[in-house]
Amino acid sequence: MLFRIFCSHCLHGVLLYQKDGKGHLHRCYFNRIVEPEALVQACRDKERSQPAGICALCCPACNSVIGVPMRHSDGRLAFRLRPGAFAKKPA
Ligand SMILES: [Zn+2]
Repeated sequence: MLFRIFCSHCLHGVLLYQKDGKGHLHRCYFNRIVEPEALVQACRDKERSQPAGICALCCPACNSVIGVPMRHSDGRLAFRLRPGAFAKKPA
C-alpha cells in the first residue's frame, strides 16, 4: 500500500512510501521509498553505508527531522520515523 508521508509541523509532503503488511508505520526502508527521485537515488547510493554516515530525513520545507537512519536486524537500511514528527495518508 502506498502512503504519502507529510511533515506534521508544516504539512509539507516528504516522501511516497510503499508499505508492506498492516500495522503502524515505524520505519521507512530505503528500498521502499518511491518518491521523490532525489531521495530514492540518495538512498540507493547509501545502501552500503553505515547508518551513522547518512543524513537524517528532514522536511524539505521547514527542515524538521522526520526520521533518523538505522539498520534493521535483517540488514536493511531504513529511516526510523520520529513519533509525532510525521503524518501519513494513503496515496
Ligand atoms: Zn515541515
